[in-house]
Amino acid sequence: MIIGIPRETRPGETRVAATPETVKKLAASGQHAVVVERGAGVASSIPDAQYEAAGASLADTAQALGADIVLKVRAPAGAELAMLKRGAMLVGLLNPFDAQAMTAVAGTGVTGFALEWLPRITRAQAMDVLSSQANIAGYKAVIVGANEYGRFMPMLMTAAGTVKAARVLVLGVGVAGLQAIATAKRLGAVIEASDVRPSVKDQVESLGAKWVDVPYETDEEREIAEGVGGYARPMPPAWMARQAAIVHERAKQADLVITTALIPGRPAPKLIKAETVAAMKPGAVLVDLAVEQGGNVEGAEAGSIVDRNGVKIVGLLNLPALVAADASALYARNVLNFLSLSLNPKSGEFNVPRDDEIVQATLVCENGTVVPRKA
Ligand code: NAD
Repeated sequence: MIIGIPRETRPGETRVAATPETVKKLAASGQHAVVVERGAGVASSIPDAQYEAAGASLADTAQALGADIVLKVRAPAGAELAMLKRGAMLVGLLNPFDAQAMTAVAGTGVTGFALEWLPRITRAQAMDVLSSQANIAGYKAVIVGANEYGRFMPMLMTAAGTVKAARVLVLGVGVAGLQAIATAKRLGAVIEASDVRPSVKDQVESLGAKWVDVPYETDEEREIAEGVGGYARPMPPAWMARQAAIVHERAKQADLVITTALIPGRPAPKLIKAETVAAMKPGAVLVDLAVEQGGNVEGAEAGSIVDRNGVKIVGLLNLPALVAADASALYARNVLNFLSLSLNPKSGEFNVPRDDEIVQATLVCENGTVVPRKA
């Protein structure tokens, strides 16, 4: 069989779905040919020659997309769709929540696997692209935020006087939020953090940050806050109002606010109101990692950095793509681990285990139709 690695075409997408390390493993059995589109790795600092040295052959777009197994970062779109082969296996972040785009991919007749739908079970952790990329986004959010902030992050005692440490507020402490706390800590900031899920408190404190508590007033609130399958659920309006009041007070003290709150398949919850932004200190910076899903911060604009009376709101998209080489390295390993369920890297044997929970959960289209999500 032919395994194809196309170059990503979405604007700003610098990542690639395979690296020389994973190509070497995919080619190791000698049973399958790996074809990499020329230039596919350049934006991730991987020259074509490194893929060739790992055992791939270089190809054009049509050859890479026309392979039997196509490994992608983003869902194919536009002109890419016509180049996919009916019955081919397609693996990537296929954005299954976008029904229109999903129907277009399904229409090509590929058997598509969307890595967004990997179940959060131990066996799937090594394949979990959402976690590997969120980790990078959390790191980069702090770096970008610190860059936009016109003061130091650490406390400094100098001959010219003392500089206070920056105060960082992290809202939404999943994978990205935890890494944001760890990164801000390394830079010497003083950190507060909050999340709807109560289980996060211990993790926040173990990283040296202070937990900002939004108390539950009913059993219903407490139950919803537990989330489902590791993900949050939308909280009742009364809790959101209490959270907004507490966040307002904490944000007024903060120099850098990082928001990461997401609810799968829904618009991101609004955690910072416009009046809170207006009450923040001049020079403060907010980085909204949820901007692609509508944003946690009122007034955040996708793809740009806006200034609201001296407070900057960073709405840059796809932060992992700004750490392209490492983001690709981790993504490619995730994809290889997922593919290894079906393709034995040593023997080369290929057999998709249709009864495997991971395979069933991620299958999004087949034989021209969209496969409804398993409950
Ligand atoms: P996510 O990206 O879906 O959401 C980010 C965070 O936002 C979550 O912590 C969520 O609780 C929080 N949030 C949502 N609504 C909020 C609100 N209104 N106010 C405040 N916070 C809000 O989450 P994620 O980072 O993908 O992961 C969530 C959890 O799942 C983590 O604890 C992670 O460790 C766990 N996880 C487990 C596995 C596994 O067991 N295989 C894999 C990945 C992640």
